[in-house]
Amino acid sequence: MNKILISACLAGFNVRYNGSSKTLRHEVLEQWRKEGRLVFCCPELAAGFSTPRPPAEITVGASGSAIVCDGARVIENTGRDVTEDYLLGAHLTLQMAQRHQCRVALLTDGSPSCGSQTIYSGAFNGQARNGDGVTAQLLRAHGIAVFSHRQLGQLITYLRAARE
Ligand code: SF4
Repeated sequence: MNKILISACLAGFNVRYNGSSKTLRHEVLEQWRKEGRLVFCCPELAAGFSTPRPPAEITVGASGSAIVCDGARVIENTGRDVTEDYLLGAHLTLQMAQRHQCRVALLTDGSPSCGSQTIYSGAFNGQARNGDGVTAQLLRAHGIAVFSHRQLGQLITYLRAARE
């Protein structure tokens, strides 16, 4: 059976910027875990960040693809530019996904790394907007189907249809 890349915070690890997890509970996830199908990743820890760490957002109006292609940036709320670290985390996560032959990923939405439907505004005002994070964008660019944590049902349907 093919493996599924999953954000570590969804799997219950306290790796988010504020030291929390974002645990997603579902019987199918439990089953996949028991079967050894889940590959846990945290792009930000992979890049060398610690927990807790300052929150970061992608610059106003830009998305993960703009960081890879058009020079947009990831900035912490302290003003520190952490774009290169986020790119490193994305590439290390892609390597992990490829090593385990993951064709799908279930990632935490809203994150400047893992977000796949929404990210935050870039103004640190708590407003979300449509867009993807650096890791989600890079995975998609390499043919990995990315689902947000709000799309677990769609991921299950997708895998059943693909008989994976
Ligand atoms: S980078 Fe991804 S896995 Fe790591 S804490 Fe943020 S959302 Fe979770």
